[in-house]
Amino acid sequence: MMSDCLFCKIIAGEIPLKKVYEDETVFAFADIDPQAPTHILVIPKEHIGSAAEVTEENSAVVAHIFEVIAKLSKELDMKDGFRVVSNCGESAGQSVHHLHFHVMSGREFTWPAG
Ligand code: 5GP
Ligand code: ZN
Repeated sequence: MMSDCLFCKIIAGEIPLKKVYEDETVFAFADIDPQAPTHILVIPKEHIGSAAEVTEENSAVVAHIFEVIAKLSKELDMKDGFRVVSNCGESAGQSVHHLHFHVMSGREFTWPAG
């Protein structure tokens, strides 16, 4: 755990949140500022700074995150489609420096985004 990381604090239970899913390596919760009717964040429990810090050593959890996303898409009734986004770095708008995947559903999305 990185003591100054907001999402590490969330995993440690130090910040109130709406938990959606948890297992040994992955945590999912509702975004505090939803950009779609359904907007959850899926994160590794291990602190990985961003998509740019995924390596051969830590990438297994990323595959598992996508298994969890597929499972949640069924449980949360996202059959009309959903968008998965990971902002990486300042120009992409990353504001929390702990790898996270936004999963958004329940409205139409434009492309390219922003
Ligand atoms: P980013 O901007 O890094 O791509 O995404 C960070 C996300 O974290 C934002 O969508 C923001 O709304 C969400 N967020 C920031 N602080 C909190 C918090 O304390 N609780 C929850 N549930 N979400 C947060
Ligand atoms: Zn962290």
